[in-house]
Amino acid sequence: MGKLVCPMCGEEVAVPVHCGQEMHKEGDQLVCWMGAGCGAQPMVEHCGQAMEIKE
Ligand SMILES: [Zn+2]
Ligand SMILES: [Zn+2]
Repeated sequence: MGKLVCPMCGEEVAVPVHCGQEMHKEGDQLVCWMGAGCGAQPMVEHCGQAMEIKE
């Protein structure tokens, strides 16, 4: 399972799921694998910063 990591404190949370699959990053948003027309949300924030997908 993918994780989002906070660049400030290192906190890790699970990547949000949409339509049964993990969402992916497009620009500054998280987008459903079905496309942005299905589901999109701003990147999760932690410590006032956008979290990053852990590789
Ligand atoms: Zn979806
Ligand atoms: Zn944090």
